Amino acid sequence: RAKDLGRANFQFFSSELNARLQERMALEAALRCALRSDGIRVEYQPIVDLCTGRAVGVEALARWTDRHLGVVTPDRFIRVAEECGLISDLGRRILQLACRDLSHWLAAGRTAMQISVNVSVRQFREADLIEQVSAALELAQLPPELLCLEITESVMLQDTQANETTLRRLKELGVSLAMDDFGTGYSSLSYLKRLPFDKVKIDRSFVRDLAVDPGDAALVRSIISMAHDLGIAVVAEGVETVEQCRFLKRHGCDLIQGYLFSKPLPADAIETLDAEGRCLTCPLESEAAP
Ligand code: C2E
Ligand code: MG
Ligand code: MG
Ligand code: MG
Repeated sequence: RAKDLGRANFQFFSSELNARLQERMALEAALRCALRSDGIRVEYQPIVDLCTGRAVGVEALARWTDRHLGVVTPDRFIRVAEECGLISDLGRRILQLACRDLSHWLAAGRTAMQISVNVSVRQFREADLIEQVSAALELAQLPPELLCLEITESVMLQDTQANETTLRRLKELGVSLAMDDFGTGYSSLSYLKRLPFDKVKIDRSFVRDLAVDPGDAALVRSIISMAHDLGIAVVAEGVETVEQCRFLKRHGCDLIQGYLFSKPLPADAIETLDAEGRCLTCPLESEAAP
């Protein structure tokens, strides 16, 4: 009967809710612990210039393996960090690690490359973001133009004056700005015209079927030409096949990032790139050479 069913459902939901809550709390406690004990690491994925076939930058991607919970994906722990107020600590930590690693590579003789660091929605709205960024640059003695901040398009869902002010202040610091996951939110092309972004990153969901889906192909082509008209460089993420790469190159995409060139690598493995950023095992090498 409906009444019993209702009660059973309630019990089912409440115990499931309870389990989820416990899991969340365990995750939160473990994350606090990881932040205290240097348990968060960063890996780096090369970003490759399609004209030269060389890595001109890397994206820093946070990694966390907990002793009990195992590998926790960044999508998951970033969300938890945002919800429980740890995002500022976590963000600061990742910025510092990334800037430090880049300054080590430069000191070891690598030609200048840019480091891209993701900024989450909440982190973008933190009052001390500007201070965090300038402190990290100063600590690592890095010129600001070598740092690129990736801000996801969903930040712009709230089209506020505050967003614009924060972006302008970051530009004044001299860092470069990329709009991440472009095409997934309610992208308004007018944002790109008005806001001071230097790059757009086409989300990998559009890159995936590029070679087979005419709709995706048309979309990617028009993002590229529109961005170029506005003087904005285009990065395609999630490039896995030579066909995708050829398409992007043919349509004037500037930079690519994806498993075709390299997975995210631990900091010391960035040495598998030679000093000029050539990937020693790159399948593009012959095609992409100038
Ligand atoms: P994102 O910034 O769009 O990063 C790109 C994601 O695509 C990364 O996933 C990367 O490993 C993955 N990827 C790169 N190439 C390929 C490919 O060819 N094929 C496929 N299937 N995937 C590819 P990851 O590392 O799991 O990160 C997921 C998201 O978590 C990131 O998306 C970013 O939004 C967030 N994230 C990661 N690290 C950080 C961080 O340090 N701070 C913040 N705020 N967010 C982070
Ligand atoms: Mg990103
Ligand atoms: Mg992205
Ligand atoms: Mg993405």
